[in-house]
Amino acid sequence: VTYQAPLDDLVFVLRHVVGLPDLDLGIDMDEVEQVLREAGRFAGEVLAPLNRVGDLEPPLLDNGVVRTSPGFADAYRRFVAGGWNAVSGDPEHGGNGLPDMLASALTELWNGANAAFALCPLLTQSAAATLARYGSERQKSLYLPHLVAGDWTGPMCLTEPQAGSDLGAIRTTARPDGEYFRLTGGKIFITWGEHDMAENLVHMVLGRIAGAADGSAGLSLFLVPKHRVGEDGVLGGANAVRCLRLEHKLGLHASPTAEITYDGAHAELVGAPHRGLATMFSMMNQARLAIGVQGVGLAERAYQQARDYARLRVQGRPVGLATDESLPILHHPDVRRMLMLARSRLEAARALALEAAAMSDRVRLGEEGAPARLDLLIPLVKAYATDGAVEIASTAIQIHGGAGFIEETGIAQCYRDARVMPIYEGTNGIQAADLVARKLVRDGGAAMTALLRDINRTHADLTERAAAELRVLAPALRTGRAALERASTWLIATYPGDPRRVLAAASPYLRLAAIVTCGWLMARAALAAHAELAAARGDARFLRAKLITARCFAEHVLVEAEMLESVIRNGGTSLLALDAESF
Ligand SMILES: Cc1cc2nc3c(=O)[nH]c(=O)nc-3n(C[C@H](O)[C@H](O)[C@H](O)COP(=O)(O)OP(=O)(O)OC[C@H]3O[C@@H](n4cnc5c(N)ncnc54)[C@H](O)[C@@H]3O)c2cc1C
Repeated sequence: VTYQAPLDDLVFVLRHVVGLPDLDLGIDMDEVEQVLREAGRFAGEVLAPLNRVGDLEPPLLDNGVVRTSPGFADAYRRFVAGGWNAVSGDPEHGGNGLPDMLASALTELWNGANAAFALCPLLTQSAAATLARYGSERQKSLYLPHLVAGDWTGPMCLTEPQAGSDLGAIRTTARPDGEYFRLTGGKIFITWGEHDMAENLVHMVLGRIAGAADGSAGLSLFLVPKHRVGEDGVLGGANAVRCLRLEHKLGLHASPTAEITYDGAHAELVGAPHRGLATMFSMMNQARLAIGVQGVGLAERAYQQARDYARLRVQGRPVGLATDESLPILHHPDVRRMLMLARSRLEAARALALEAAAMSDRVRLGEEGAPARLDLLIPLVKAYATDGAVEIASTAIQIHGGAGFIEETGIAQCYRDARVMPIYEGTNGIQAADLVARKLVRDGGAAMTALLRDINRTHADLTERAAAELRVLAPALRTGRAALERASTWLIATYPGDPRRVLAAASPYLRLAAIVTCGWLMARAALAAHAELAAARGDARFLRAKLITARCFAEHVLVEAEMLESVIRNGGTSLLALDAESF
């Protein structure tokens, strides 16, 4: 099973849909393409071959040390030596400062090739970004260059048995000890929380200073190195941090998910005391976007495997074709349906993720309105792209028929690996609640209204074109946009008096917002593809396919919008009517 980096689509979306060349980011499209080509080679040649190995031979805990799957430590060494961990890092600390758009595209490639491996740099990069923003000068000089380079890694340590979605229930406690703290407590589910691929690990831990307020207001963020670091930067003795156990998981076997205990561990505060959740949110926001991108990568891998299988598996004579021969299943209309839906949803999710990454670049450039748009997009990317990964992986299994249910085919791994993506980094239910309560209701719909305005402009662009392949997209976009507008108005008006009904509608609302935003991005992609075709530029086969996937998305997915609106407005009563005892 191989993985080919989807360079054509990434380059097209970066160039034509999310407008990388329009921003002053210090890099041109030739350089972008070159970086993507090299990364695609590394992903395909080094990471992808280890994907199955890691599934079959997961890491083992051996006397407190986690021995990673065969080949992983060497691949990680090459990843770091190639400078891939440093792409998005701050140049002041050894990073390349590449745009978030390009960094996101790279994240997709690592995850498409080997999602379990890719989680390690994904979290380290988030830790580095948080430290760059909130760390003291001393922390930045001692820790940041290593986290940026990746020779040290940075697990994110939030979850405790009683504190999952509700981080306010965290009990890990820090007692002041001179300038520093002694941290005591236990964390579970810590991804790459212990391993043998790097010289040191810098745990980013959410805990509570002894005596601080209960709930999330009393949380602080701490940095806890596995090995103490002297003021001269030289590694000292082991800190009181231990891995007790590795969790046995449905998927992502190669990524060690660790139970960690801190037993009076030396800890340093990051950022202001009692501001831990706000500080951690910068790490979580970046990680949420990256997990959405992970979903896109996984979906691409599943799509590629399903497509390749559909080309090879001969079964039956498809109706309506002028041949008496049995043909590959690719020719059956129902298999086409599955492949086209997977492909158009995947391309739409990729455009959505890169639009969010572009917004993150625009935030850095100080563009007005960008922070609110980014906040709005993050839950959409995280939830829609990861739900999509599970659904596309499931469809990919269906395309394999019975062979899909057999582990040897490899497609089952995609499904198992994808299944956690809607769960971790804030469950998709939490993303939906965040979207409604924080991103929609709190600003009275201002950010959503700005988005709806932009969608309107693209709708007008479509209707002004004579080309049938563009005009055909307009009705579904108009209908979807109107449904999103009405649903948003209803939720904002209903929330103060009946918040439970609104929260019961949060997940369908997230899906509605995501498919309309995706429909808008696919329409922008179609407009660009049409313009390129008209100017006889680019690869005509790719561009024509883009027009068709945009149409498929409009006709098969965007049309769900009115149904979702009805669910949002009318569905809450039945969900909440039973008393708890009746379940
Ligand atoms: C493979 C894996 C890797 C992980 N990696 C990390 C890591 O690196 N670092 C880390 O800190 N954690 C990590 N986690 C933990 C992960 O983030 C949590 O599992 C997740 O946040 C959900 O918490 P929970 O499991 O306690 O579920 P719960 O919070 O108990 O949720 C159970 C269900 O209730 C719903 N629910 C809960 N509260 C609400 C609410 N307020 N509104 C609506 N619905 C709600 C949830 O959506 C979910 O469906 C990992 C987990 C796994 C499985």
